[in-house]
Amino acid sequence: MNTESVKVLIIGSGPAGYTAAIYAARAGLKPILYTGGQPGGQLTTTNDVENFPGYPEGINGPQMMMDLQKQAERFGTVINYGMVTSVDFSGYPHKVVVDENTEIIAETVIIATGATAKYLGIPSEEKFNNKGVSACAVCDGYFYRGKEVAVVGAGDSAAEEATYLSKLCTKVHLIVRRDEMRASKIMQQRVINTPNIEVHWNTETDEILGDDSGVTGVRLKNNKTGESKEISVQGFFLAIGHKPNTDIFKDFLDMDETGYIKVIPGSSKTNIEGVFAVGDAADKVYRQAITAAGTGCMGALDAEKFLAAKEMETAHA
Ligand code: NDP
Repeated sequence: MNTESVKVLIIGSGPAGYTAAIYAARAGLKPILYTGGQPGGQLTTTNDVENFPGYPEGINGPQMMMDLQKQAERFGTVINYGMVTSVDFSGYPHKVVVDENTEIIAETVIIATGATAKYLGIPSEEKFNNKGVSACAVCDGYFYRGKEVAVVGAGDSAAEEATYLSKLCTKVHLIVRRDEMRASKIMQQRVINTPNIEVHWNTETDEILGDDSGVTGVRLKNNKTGESKEISVQGFFLAIGHKPNTDIFKDFLDMDETGYIKVIPGSSKTNIEGVFAVGDAADKVYRQAITAAGTGCMGALDAEKFLAAKEMETAHA
């Protein structure tokens, strides 16, 4: 196994990882960043990003990630394509294995592995991804203003996304698989009180329908009566939850019951000294590119402070 040593190791290449890299590199810490299996992260699966400050005309998601990568490289970040396969945070310095063949000895680790939106797993969903199918109403809802859309899910995200879309769209169909919603009472109340949201109870998505222009409708099935019906929509939004990409850290880091890494509030510090968590891997509430970038910055500043304190300790030892 190859071995290399590094002051700052960044795992993940979304806005959180690249922002951490820009800050750490500009602080002279020579960070190494491993991209993970989807270089650029979730934003590479969206079209235009219109809500990231500084881009008055919006920016294409993949382009934005390439720009962030270039900016990180400009200050000396080493960017490597590879997947972290295991970690050992039981001692110090930390040990991280990449692609099962390279061991990295890291003084600090910034985890920016993000989260993955859950999909239903039906083929038409993949076929129309970005052509009417989206897992982020806040990102893509604007493109459907004045149109009719469907949202699938029954948790707080689904309730929030349906309510958000109801302000932009003529009508929102909320597809709920049981006869009740999991969302908090207040969010459910908001859904029920919004005249242009129609809830389809006990209903599952059979197929997303469309043509070359994108999504044109959805075929729904009532799982109590077996009855099928088609509704006409141009947008289909998934809101059935996200899964943080944190499985490899679970033996060492404190997490909530769904796998989001717990950080000390107001910081990016985890329960392990010198290990910081930023972006969606530690955020189940906001999950925006701009908030991920903000916490990425916090991760780099926290790592820098940690290293400076360690150096002082060594100097006085
Ligand atoms: P949740 O896990 O809470 O809910 C997921 C929903 O998707 C459930 O209602 C579930 O149905 C449904 N679902 C799952 N799989 C399928 C499927 N294959 N087909 C149809 N429906 C499916 O995820 P959320 O993203 O909504 O919320 C995650 C966490 O974040 C929660 O703790 C939530 O409270 C929090 N949150 C808070 C917000 C706020 O406070 N403003 C906003 C958004 C999220 P079923 O109920 O039948 O299992």
